[in-house]
Amino acid sequence: MKFYLLGYPVGHSVSPPMHNAAFKELRLTHDYSTLGVHPDQLAATIENKIRRDSFGGASVTIPHKIEIIKHMDELAGSAVRAGAVNTIEKTGDILRGHNTDAIGGIRALTEVYGSIARARVVLLGAGGAANALAAELAPRVRDLMILNRSVEKAKALSDRLDGETGYGSILDQSVIESADILINATPVGMSPNIGESPVESEYLHSGLLVYDIVYNPLKTQLLKDAEAAGERTLGGLWMLVYQGVEAFKIWTGIEPSAQTMYDAALAALEANRH
Ligand code: NAP
Repeated sequence: MKFYLLGYPVGHSVSPPMHNAAFKELRLTHDYSTLGVHPDQLAATIENKIRRDSFGGASVTIPHKIEIIKHMDELAGSAVRAGAVNTIEKTGDILRGHNTDAIGGIRALTEVYGSIARARVVLLGAGGAANALAAELAPRVRDLMILNRSVEKAKALSDRLDGETGYGSILDQSVIESADILINATPVGMSPNIGESPVESEYLHSGLLVYDIVYNPLKTQLLKDAEAAGERTLGGLWMLVYQGVEAFKIWTGIEPSAQTMYDAALAALEANRH
């Protein structure tokens, strides 16, 4: 069966090596490859590739995560809550859209932090990834504060969530002082701007877990500053891997080895750097 990453541009994605390593380990003869699809070609690609018998499933990335919704026959609750699709499942002729970003992101977090039920969480950003994470975090944590550059987007996100939530400007960071978990879901610090951090280091304190969902570079400036302040840290590669693990389970019904997928993703990232 054929599996794809649909995006534009798709470039040097780590998803093909990550999924193909898991297929190989489980002796499945599937093939996962990138499929660069210009937005004008999305509808035609759905008909010509995705609705074909040889299609096994797909991941969806920028810029198609929202536009693809109208091409789905059904949406899982995860996609409804996130307002976006990152995984397509095909059963018979039915295309069902899922979103595994947040569940993968939370699985990565709980593997390191343990139970988040009593955690006070500060989330930086109100874009696609932050929306997906916030929808799954809000009902699970003690309270969630969303800080964003555009305050009205933070407010709009906070207003539609269940649970104890608040919002503010990304410039008002003193709330981090009383937080247990800080999550960066902005691209600040992503390659090539690797010297930038979204957080003033004076607000980093011991007892805080700092989770940066950016994975290129693996250790962002924020994570370096957090380590220097004696904090626990988590980078974004495990979120990428666990969203892939969840997608793999949807497609095959099999739980793959997360470590195998992590090792393949890491090797691909390192190969891309050279
Ligand atoms: P997005 O939809 O474009 O949202 C970006 C968010 O960051 C917005 O809230 C934006 O604020 C804020 N932002 C952008 N530039 C900023 C700056 N210079 N200063 C302060 N805030 C800024 O992007 P996304 O899809 O959510 O992705 C965000 C990051 O998460 C990317 O680096 C992406 O690679 C990463 N990511 C990682 C994973 C993973 O699996 N590890 C998954 C998804 C995304 P405004 O609202 O004010 O514009």
